[in-house]
Amino acid sequence: MSSRIVAIVGRPNVGKSTLFNRLIEQRKAIVDETAGVTRDRNYGKGEWIGVEYSVIDTGGYVVNSEDIFEAEINKQVHLAIDEADVIMFVVDVELGITDLDDAIANILRRSKKEVILVVNKVDNNNRILDAQEFYGLGLGEIHCISSMTGSGTGDMLDALVAKFPNRESLEEEHELPHISVVGRPNVGKSSFINALIGEDRNIVTDVAGTTRDSIHTRYNKFGHDFMIVDTAGLRKKGKVSEDLEFYSVLRSVRTIENSDVCLLLIDATRGVEAQDMNILNLILKNKKGVVILVNKWDLIDKDTMTTKKITEEIHNRMAPFTDVPIVFISALTKQRVHKALELAMEVHENRKQRIKTSELNEVMLEAIENYGPPSIKGKYIKIKYCTQLPSPTPTFAFFANLPQYIKEPYKRYLENQLRDNFNFTGVPVQIYFRQK
Ligand code: GDP
Ligand code: GDP
Repeated sequence: MSSRIVAIVGRPNVGKSTLFNRLIEQRKAIVDETAGVTRDRNYGKGEWIGVEYSVIDTGGYVVNSEDIFEAEINKQVHLAIDEADVIMFVVDVELGITDLDDAIANILRRSKKEVILVVNKVDNNNRILDAQEFYGLGLGEIHCISSMTGSGTGDMLDALVAKFPNRESLEEEHELPHISVVGRPNVGKSSFINALIGEDRNIVTDVAGTTRDSIHTRYNKFGHDFMIVDTAGLRKKGKVSEDLEFYSVLRSVRTIENSDVCLLLIDATRGVEAQDMNILNLILKNKKGVVILVNKWDLIDKDTMTTKKITEEIHNRMAPFTDVPIVFISALTKQRVHKALELAMEVHENRKQRIKTSELNEVMLEAIENYGPPSIKGKYIKIKYCTQLPSPTPTFAFFANLPQYIKEPYKRYLENQLRDNFNFTGVPVQIYFRQK
């Protein structure tokens, strides 16, 4: 399994976030977002001619563009090189080549990474002439676009899609569950993996440029056969300012995309924080299974902090998606580490299950009969049948006379009914309405 990750880099104000939004919008029109998943400013899914990819706007993580230092941009570019498959380098035709553009181009040339050089703000034909100067960056073909109007983006996306690894090799089914351990820095990821597989796998030679790809290691432990997904980001510690959200998110993307089930670690001593939720959103956006592990439970004074209290806190933050296993563990004492693996395997089974159409309709048509979709503008809405689609993650199509009138709350009702009647714990479920 592999992934298609595009990182947008470039100095401030060239139009990175405008372009990011455009790439994400194009897809939003076609595909519903998972209910309850808030939109991330910096990470999203794009789609072009049927090819789905992830986009990361590195610039979106810089809070104050006035204070930006060249060193900071350099770090971002290096990290983007480590973690992405293709770099979209954005420059601005209005200003021409700046020193910072040159500096970034130098790093990119040396990296031998796939680069799409995007000349933005080419809002009219006159500017195409001005754009020619960017050939001087030595990164090959230039792609003139206007992020604002969208002109030129089609050709650019054709070029982007051509740079991804071919489709067949990506979509091949793998038999063993791919499990990853994610969470923000210092939450105990390495400790947990060591506790689980009982060997120190952190001794990795850290040679620049060799750490790009995911490493999948097969284990047979506790009667289960599984792969642990490990990436450059997880192993390369202490190199950059770990606390920046940007780094922990960027480092999680590839890991998550390469997994079937993610074990999301939360630090019990810190409670649930925004960064934890951002990583959870990445997992849900990628429709992966999830188990939440509240780690460092050994440090908690059980009189003041109870499992019930933390569970409630997590549920509040996650709503409406609360059907997820939560385990309180200690990587240090190995408390319930085995249980965490058991749950990961269960979630994997839940995610793979296929429900027979007859069984599905028997249950769901009754639920629909008990509580039908509310009629809108005097129009009677009837759902006639449903079926699970043959996709890698649980996806259901409900066929109705007027699918466009079925609203979010009813969709949630159907999802809850699915969860009540079948076991989809830890698994995001997709629901679509289609015309019949
Ligand atoms: P970032 O800092 O690189 O993320 O840049 P932004 O996306 O925030 O854009 C910076 C400014 O450039 C904003 O005022 C945008 O409206 C403007 N901008 C972005 N794309 C275009 C474009 O294609 N043409 C023009 N004329 N302006 C643009
Ligand atoms: P990572 O950055 O997520 O891989 O976190 P590490 O595994 O490096 O752990 C960060 C720190 O937390 C280290 O000092 C660990 O010893 C400590 N730690 C990890 N898990 C536990 C735990 O369950 N209990 C306690 N008390 N400390 C832990």
